[in-house]
Amino acid sequence: MSFIYNKKDAKCMWCKRTKNPHPDFTFETIPTKVFMSKKGREIELCLSCYENETKDLDKDSNFEERLDKKFEFLKILNL
Ligand SMILES: [Zn+2]
Repeated sequence: MSFIYNKKDAKCMWCKRTKNPHPDFTFETIPTKVFMSKKGREIELCLSCYENETKDLDKDSNFEERLDKKFEFLKILNL
């Protein structure tokens, strides 16, 4: 899994962070990766949100489907 470091307009779509949380990289943007959801949405996530999404993923649930569910949930809440 390769995340993109110091991408200029990096922003995590879940936690909305744009800055690298690591104290040694204060001036860098947050490392993110763009994932494609099942419905074809481009979802940009930071490493910690990605780990959160996948850590309790069982074999019956699908990561791409989960991205859509969460995206739609955030949209309803208007976050
Ligand atoms: Zn995040």
